[in-house]
Amino acid sequence: MIIDEAYELLFPGKTSPYTFTLDYSARFKGYNANVRKRGRDISFHLSSKWKTVSKEIVIGLIQDLLIRILHERGIKSTMNIEMYHVFMQKIAMVIDKTQDDEVLALSYDRVNEQYFGGLVEKPNLQWHKASRRLGSYDYGTDTISMSDALRGAPERVLDYVMHHELLHKYLKYSAKGVRPHHHTKKFKEMEKRFYDWEGCEQYLSRMTRKGWFFFE
Ligand SMILES: [Zn+2]
Repeated sequence: MIIDEAYELLFPGKTSPYTFTLDYSARFKGYNANVRKRGRDISFHLSSKWKTVSKEIVIGLIQDLLIRILHERGIKSTMNIEMYHVFMQKIAMVIDKTQDDEVLALSYDRVNEQYFGGLVEKPNLQWHKASRRLGSYDYGTDTISMSDALRGAPERVLDYVMHHELLHKYLKYSAKGVRPHHHTKKFKEMEKRFYDWEGCEQYLSRMTRKGWFFFE
């Protein structure tokens, strides 16, 4: 099975102590996927869109998910993971841009110009109803989503969250291999380039104390 192959390429010579399952589902948006681990059972759930993608790239996706769930130190990236990253970058370019919003587009323009030299291509931009999540970047659909709780926030705070989410898009596959989705040291350093990050952090921590989760 493809997962055993992915495991062997990631951990050469090691026998897997896990039982793997894999299913495809049309529930996912775009090229999303996730993985769950319960004891020794690891189950992979992939968007059905992955069915038509070449095996080498799917192996890279599975390895990327394995790295995230196994938390083992010193795992080396593989050729397949590199291919998967290149594939996802290309996909982001061709994913339909169907979601846009005037306020978010202005925020994106300001932040992209000032902090990214205009280099980050515009993702889908949308508001979500005030869930407890303030903001997120979704890799599989190239979408930045902001909670409408931020509609009442000062412009700089909206821009600060926009900067955070664009950093995810900007850095997503520049970190070689291992867990690019997390808030790495480099990520945190770059986040502090924002002109009023301390003031914005304070504003947001007041919001999160009222029961909001932080953005991701
Ligand atoms: Zn984040």
